[in-house]
Amino acid sequence: MTIRFPIVKPVLPDISQYQHYIESTFGRCWLTNNGPLLKELEARLSDYLGVNDIMLVANGTLALQVAYKALELKGNVATSPFSFAATSSSLAWHGDTPYFVDINADSLNVDEQQLEATFSQNDTSLDGFVGVHVFGNAGDVERMGAIAEQYNKPFVYDAAHAFGVKFKGRSLLSYGDASTLSFHATKLFHCVEGGGIVFKEKHHMDLARELINFGFDSTMEPANVGINAKMSEMHAAMGLCLLDKIDDIISHRVELVHLYRELLDGVVSFQHWSSDCSQNGAYMPVLFESEEQLLGSMSYLAKQGVQTRRYFYPSLSQVETYGRRGETPIANSASKRVLCLPMFFDLGKSDVALICEFVKQSISVKA
Ligand SMILES: *Cc1c(COP(=O)(O)O)cnc(C)c1O
Repeated sequence: MTIRFPIVKPVLPDISQYQHYIESTFGRCWLTNNGPLLKELEARLSDYLGVNDIMLVANGTLALQVAYKALELKGNVATSPFSFAATSSSLAWHGDTPYFVDINADSLNVDEQQLEATFSQNDTSLDGFVGVHVFGNAGDVERMGAIAEQYNKPFVYDAAHAFGVKFKGRSLLSYGDASTLSFHATKLFHCVEGGGIVFKEKHHMDLARELINFGFDSTMEPANVGINAKMSEMHAAMGLCLLDKIDDIISHRVELVHLYRELLDGVVSFQHWSSDCSQNGAYMPVLFESEEQLLGSMSYLAKQGVQTRRYFYPSLSQVETYGRRGETPIANSASKRVLCLPMFFDLGKSDVALICEFVKQSISVKA
């Protein structure tokens, strides 16, 4: 069966608008290394997101790695098992050992009580925390901030899903010592490939700006072991184009989420969204009663041309390469039962209505 509704479809700007930026770049022949388009995008994004300063990088995975390096996050790091592989692989790549703390069955984020208990039991061996605002939803970031302070450890949030989200009216990115974003083509806002980091402390930002350029300091000496994580002008140009449309993109997606939830009410269950948190419509995850029901539904939907994704499966705590440390029964169960439905800007309300009809039909089908 051909794909009628893909799971995701990257949004693209009017090609003439993109061309306008590219022509300016050709004119200057300044292609990367802190170019004017990158600077413009950093300024406009800081303003849009409501943060002091955002640093743009080549992708969301490097954003995590550079944040860990700048914060000297070293050793045993508590993290969420319910995320994309990059959250754990970046830790392992950086030489850290992920320690998986179970999630809350409602928010699907790391459970604050479990996090507190894990720190109090392992206070000599846990060196920090990497949380995830999964699907754009936040846990109790104030309580987590108190844990960070009590144990005096770096806390990083993988905010790859949380573009534009506010917590109690303030940017969700302003919580934690650092928050990272991904601007990959499949994300809500994208630069084809790209990422961003927001730090709480200016000195971490200053260091990170050197780290992404081979560790060169102002005298062009490699003062630190750095990497190349710079974003090019071509990528920044895409971001500048899409930022003009971002309010329309987000409001349409949020409308689709509301419609999905209304039409599938009582058919499947949903992640509980924090009442302190705004929505951005980044994803449309639904939870089935069992893995068997999910598999039956998934194959039925595929036959109707509806692409879905098991996002996130398996639980990262079950993956051999990440060391399997920590007990996470709730995450293991949730990752067997969660399925993401199509969600993108081009999707219409009648498309959502049709997809929901197929989901209802699929529920009775056996795997
Ligand atoms: C997409 C994603 C990343 C990785 O971002 P890239 O830009 O693809 O490197 C990291 N964490 C989460 C939760 C993501 O969804």
